Amino acid sequence: MSASKTFYCLRCQHRFQAEHEPKKIVERSCPKCGSNSVRLETAMAAEALRRGREGGLVYAEDGTENSN
Ligand SMILES: [Zn+2]
Repeated sequence: MSASKTFYCLRCQHRFQAEHEPKKIVERSCPKCGSNSVRLETAMAAEALRRGREGGLVYAEDGTENSN
């Protein structure tokens, strides 16, 4: 099973949708700049973005998303 999730590039801040399988580590690269510094955008990170906070954004490593 897989689901489409939002990923976030740490290098160019590009956000994109990609299939994500829980518990499966997949090496990803940014479709825009080619960097492999891509993180899964968690609900916490999305909320922080909505609030416009700076310096406190938390991005989980791919496959290690914490869900309460
Ligand atoms: Zn990028």
